[in-house]
Amino acid sequence: MGFEYDDQNIFAKILRGEIPNDTVFENDHALAFRDITPQAPSHVLVIPKGPYVSLDHFTQEASEGELAGFLRAVGEVCRLEGVSEDGFRAISNAGVHGVQEVPHLHVHIIGGRPLGRMLARET
Ligand code: AMP
Repeated sequence: MGFEYDDQNIFAKILRGEIPNDTVFENDHALAFRDITPQAPSHVLVIPKGPYVSLDHFTQEASEGELAGFLRAVGEVCRLEGVSEDGFRAISNAGVHGVQEVPHLHVHIIGGRPLGRMLARET
């Protein structure tokens, strides 16, 4: 499957410095910033600096350095936010079924309160 990246998405604009963000952590390959609509006391988005739409796209096309830098940023955020001990949820929505709003790969790191079940059961 080919992946098309829209460089006008809002996270691309954040990476270019066109829109402000509340940065939590940054390394050579990733930026982590607070979600503008937090779902819990701690809600941070980790994004790769490269133009990738989804985890599927990223893991197909990114270099080993990008993969490592991004995953390490996820871990750094957990520790910086203080959610490692009590726990957290990492979510990456993709595509239509995943209800992805912003078409630049992001992992939500959510914690700071009990989060309940991962998904509501269908009735
Ligand atoms: P998703 O549905 O997984 O694509 O989630 C996109 C997330 O991006 C949502 O949780 C939004 O609140 C968040 N978001 C959208 N615009 C911004 C922004 N400018 N700064 C920080 N978070 C944002």
